Amino acid sequence: MPKTPPDATETEVFPVSDDDGRYRSIFENAVEGIYQTTVHGGYLRVNPALARMYGYDSPDRLIAGLTNIATQLYVDPQRRDDFADAMARDGVVKDFEAQIYRRDGSTIWIEENARCVQDSTGCILYYEGMVTDISARKASEEQIRLLATVFESVSDGILVIDRELIVCAANPAFTNITGLLSSDLIGQAPRLSVAGFEERGLIERICGLADETGHWRGELGCVRPDYQPFAAWVSVTTVRDPDGKTEFFVLACSDITDRKRQEDRIRYQANFDALTNLPNRRFLHEQLDQAIRLAIPEKKRLAVAFLDLDRFKQINDSLGHRAGDALLKQVARRLRSASRATDIVGRYGGDEFVMIFPNINNNFSGSFLAEKLLYSFSDPFQLPERELFCAPSIGIAFYPDDADTADGLIRCADLAMYHTKRSGPRRYTLFSEEMMQQSSRRLDIEHDLRHAIQRDEFVMHYQSKFDFETGRVVGAEGLVRWNHPSGALISPGEFIPIAEETGLIAQIGELTLRKVCEQAQAWRKAGLPLEGIAVNLSPREFHDSRIVQLVRTVLDETGLPPDFLELELTEGAMIVDIDHAVDTLRRLKSIGVRLAIDDFGTGYSSLAYLKRFPIDTLKIDRSFVHEVASNATDTAIIDTIIGLASSLGFSVVAEGVETIEQALVLREHNCRYAQGYLICRPLPAATFAESIQDAARHPRQVLPER
Ligand code: C2E
Ligand code: MG
Ligand code: MG
Repeated sequence: MPKTPPDATETEVFPVSDDDGRYRSIFENAVEGIYQTTVHGGYLRVNPALARMYGYDSPDRLIAGLTNIATQLYVDPQRRDDFADAMARDGVVKDFEAQIYRRDGSTIWIEENARCVQDSTGCILYYEGMVTDISARKASEEQIRLLATVFESVSDGILVIDRELIVCAANPAFTNITGLLSSDLIGQAPRLSVAGFEERGLIERICGLADETGHWRGELGCVRPDYQPFAAWVSVTTVRDPDGKTEFFVLACSDITDRKRQEDRIRYQANFDALTNLPNRRFLHEQLDQAIRLAIPEKKRLAVAFLDLDRFKQINDSLGHRAGDALLKQVARRLRSASRATDIVGRYGGDEFVMIFPNINNNFSGSFLAEKLLYSFSDPFQLPERELFCAPSIGIAFYPDDADTADGLIRCADLAMYHTKRSGPRRYTLFSEEMMQQSSRRLDIEHDLRHAIQRDEFVMHYQSKFDFETGRVVGAEGLVRWNHPSGALISPGEFIPIAEETGLIAQIGELTLRKVCEQAQAWRKAGLPLEGIAVNLSPREFHDSRIVQLVRTVLDETGLPPDFLELELTEGAMIVDIDHAVDTLRRLKSIGVRLAIDDFGTGYSSLAYLKRFPIDTLKIDRSFVHEVASNATDTAIIDTIIGLASSLGFSVVAEGVETIEQALVLREHNCRYAQGYLICRPLPAATFAESIQDAARHPRQVLPER
């Protein structure tokens, strides 16, 4: 350990020798700072480089200004002591790093190498040292440290691969994400656990592409060593040497499984209906578009079926949404299983379903398709707490016959479905050109119907009810007609369904009920020989909670005896919620009116429920009557209905009797009453009254005596 002179003054210990001119130039021009100080830190000599480094104009200024190294120079004053301790201990200080203040207060990092110079006795004369500004190195070291921390702590996995495709480094995130150990990776060929790929080949290809263009990115499906699959987003960038040659590949990967799942969920939600898990309207359009695109080059045909469940709204309203949802789900399941894997079944909205059949041959028939679909509705649906039959109305359109766009095809199928709905017992319709014209007519009707009520454009026609036994007219049915301003007389078959849908039926229904009751009362007073009058109630009128009160009020106001009035209801109106229907029927019955089931046989013909209904009359639908003289099955059905009706105590009226042959068969099967063109067409009130009076005066023999 060098000795420190007890009280040496600076000038004494530092004899400046001018003979050393050779070295002077080195001292003056060196890039490093060079200094000599006393043991106590007073500067003896400094070179210009040190002055510059420390921010002084000249060496002299530095010597004059920087008098206390510990406090003026070192940012951490302790460093001065560290320096002195090392010097005292070893006689040299090597690679001593310290952060220092420059004259203007800014800081830099320096590295000092110094030694103490001793005289021959071993007594320390002074210190001399060399200072390098290492701020730049420090900064880059700092940066490297920072980057290393980032490398260690980022959530993205990073793999550094050299140009021989050997892994040099893998960060913890990489091992976390891939489930590979770093010992599996470092010094070996890179791995990612890509599912179903020859991994090395794939990574070579990816690195090759990155080498060509500077980067590669993409998504890879991977599997961890424990067989857990994950989706990785991988990007590979190159690190090149100054000549542009790739030195390293940096492969970054992130686990995007959650994001993918979320994206999948969002995509699913955007494309599928949550209740039935079927494609939704948007996705159906997309799929149909695609099916058409595929059909074009192959000159194939496609079929599109549009289905709408009958009475769904009533089911929903009366049995609740839970039942409605359950029904929709079961319908979805049945349609799915009625179709092939290549067919597309989607929920178009509410109770509407669309099916796309992309693989049909050229002579494929729409009727076959419709029958197949209808067949899947032949069993009852199991709803919570009850079982229920539900049938769809179906419309079918073909590409390219009917339309050649997705929108066009769906519109055609929808329109055809709409025709099914409008046109009674038929369950499906194949699209035809005329439907287009009719659909604009529907819009016109909808529009004009609103005015029709205010302008009182409705008139009642009356059709007589005939008794085969007595040969006399016993009653009449009031049938509404719309005297359209255009001069046309529009039939109820056309506008009643529209009035039902638009809700205008409530007003129209009240109007017709009032007209019929007023008319019947007037005829009674005039002594017209009639025993009763019937009026139709549409399902929506029947379900209106005010119906019982309305009937009571109208009877009161017109003075018509309740038992003179018969209300005709269709089965469809009652089948949805039998209990509720029975209750309403009972309350109507308690007023004293008579009740009839209209169009019997076309709806659900739930014979089991029939006996629960407090009704008086069954009206056999004219579709059975039509065939009765020629078709043995229809004769058998009529026979059954009449037998059943009489056992339940109902009277039976055959509707739509047009020929003598039909009348004869009906009479033979003990059907007592009939309505139909054979006896009388529906007539305006005045004409009807005349015909009744006429018939009373000159009884007409419709059928020969038995
Ligand atoms: P509906 O109650 O079954 O009426 C019988 C329908 O058959 C009437 O058609 C009548 O003109 C027709 N018809 C009668 N005899 C024959 C025949 O021999 N052959 C044929 N082919 N048809 C015959 P309309 O008047 O067009 O009424 C159609 C339906 O509109 C009615 O069927 C009824 O459900 C409904 N409707 C009529 N008037 C009203 C009304 O005032 N209110 C309500 N809610 N519905 C009504
Ligand atoms: Mg009727
Ligand atoms: Mg009828």
